[in-house]
Order: sequence, then C-alpha cells, then structure tokens
Amino acid sequence: MSKPKVATTSLAGCFGCHMSLLDIDERILDLAELVEFHKSPIVDVKRFSSRCAIGLIEGGCCNEENVHVLRDFRKNCDVLISVGDCAIMGGIPAMRNVIPLEECLEEAYIKGITVHNPNQRIPDDKEIPLLLNKVYPCHEVVKIDYHLPGCPPPAETLWQSLVALLNGKPIELPYELIKYD
Ligand code: SF4
Repeated sequence: MSKPKVATTSLAGCFGCHMSLLDIDERILDLAELVEFHKSPIVDVKRFSSRCAIGLIEGGCCNEENVHVLRDFRKNCDVLISVGDCAIMGGIPAMRNVIPLEECLEEAYIKGITVHNPNQRIPDDKEIPLLLNKVYPCHEVVKIDYHLPGCPPPAETLWQSLVALLNGKPIELPYELIKYD
C-alpha cells in the first residue's frame, strides 16, 4: 500500500520551520516509514505529480510567486497547515507592511546607508517575482486547515501534529507546545 504523501514549502520564511521539522532527530526515520515526502526542499521534488495528504507551509506571501505556490499547494493537498508565525501572521517579513512598498525599495536599493548603487536603479528584471503591496498571512490567500504557532513551532509540535493527522485523529496539543512566551 502506498504511503500518504507530505509536501512542504518555504514562502516568505527563513527555513527555520523546516529546520525544526528536522529537529525531530531520529524520529525522521519513523516519519519516513509513515509518509513519502513529495514536493519539498527536503527531497528536492519541485512539482506536484500526485495528490498529497498533507501540505506544510512555512512563511507568508510577499510576492506573486508565493501566491502561485500557495494556491498550487491548496489545489494538491487534502490538508493544508500554516507552520510558524510567518505563515500565520506574516512574521518578521510583515514588518514592512507599515511602510509603503516604494519607500521600502528606495531604502533597500537607493537610500540605505550601506547601499552602493551608482545607477540608482531598483532591480526590475522580469524574472524577479513582483512584490506584493504587503506581506499576507496564508489564510488570507487560501483556506488553511490548521495553524501551528511558534517561531519556529517546536519539533515536538510538528511531530505530534503529523502523527495525529496520519492516524486520522484530531490535533490535540498540550499547552506547553503552543504557548507564546
Ligand atoms: S516562523 Fe520563525 S522560524 Fe519559521 S520561517 Fe518565520 S522566522 Fe523562520
């Protein structure tokens, strides 16, 4: 019998949530027995070629490519989970939301104290994904089934959540695994 498939991605995130998943240590071998990793940087599969049981999303949406990837995950995954504070509420990247995008770009590429940019040009190659006006949490773009808070969520939170879902049980995490302090 084929194993359920799990897909993961990092949108506007730092890969810390992926690192936390790897922090389940030797249980990664148990996880590999339970599931097959599909589209994910963990196994370097770049495209969906079959349906996945679970999609783990790290990071929110800061550009059009993030939106495209997130919608692709929603289309191809039965259960979609926002993993970590960036996916849930934008996190650190969303600090730019209080500043107009044009001002952010000017500071980053022209006016910043450490910037050396003799052409005074803001990169605009068509290969670079267009930035959104602000950073959006995932649930404002697609329906999200579960939110696992933390920066990053502890490995134990990820492990217990995956095991519960794979066994058809509700996610019931103890307070210690979802507290914010
Ligand atoms: S929630 Fe924290 S660890 Fe996860 S992607 Fe955001 S900054 Fe990185």
